[in-house]
Amino acid sequence: MLSKRGRGAASLLWGSNLGDRPANLASAREAIRAAAGPILNTSAVYRTEAWGKTDQPEFLNQVVEVETDLDPEALLETLMDIERQMGRERSERWAPRTIDLDILYYGQDVVQTARLMLPHPGIPDRRFTLVPLAEIAPDFVHPQYGKTNQQLLRACYDLLTVREYF
Ligand code: ADP
Ligand code: MG
Repeated sequence: MLSKRGRGAASLLWGSNLGDRPANLASAREAIRAAAGPILNTSAVYRTEAWGKTDQPEFLNQVVEVETDLDPEALLETLMDIERQMGRERSERWAPRTIDLDILYYGQDVVQTARLMLPHPGIPDRRFTLVPLAEIAPDFVHPQYGKTNQQLLRACYDLLTVREYF
């Protein structure tokens, strides 16, 4: 996954379950391309049952790989700016949102601070993350677990539905 050109390659997950969800994903994509760098790979869009707080509308989720000059902290700051510009209001945990932008992996980097955890700690427990991730990067190895995305998906206990969205 690391770029041959020496820039960082990061996998991002984005999701929306409020408003015009496909338009929200498209706006996020354009904003990230402009602020972070080119998008190299894109999964299908998936319809996913809400995780964590389940009494809310289903999400649309998608995973992309972006090539960026931004370091992990600057990338997170950029994503949070885009969330704010797109009108996301932070209320309770796992509440409905116009857009959620998460960094799943940043190459093989491991970061554990209060603001940023890399790889994203939710990856092994979330089918809505692993299905699109295994679609575009099945053989990428998780730097902490030493397992590929495909292996993590096979071992995942999450039973919430993840279906392709057309
Ligand atoms: P969630 O994505 O779990 O629903 P939020 O989007 O509200 O929750 O994010 C909560 C916090 O998670 C953010 O303020 C951010 O600092 C932190 N965070 C830690 N690691 C990551 C990561 N890899 N990607 C995105 N946010 C992260
Ligand atoms: Mg988030």
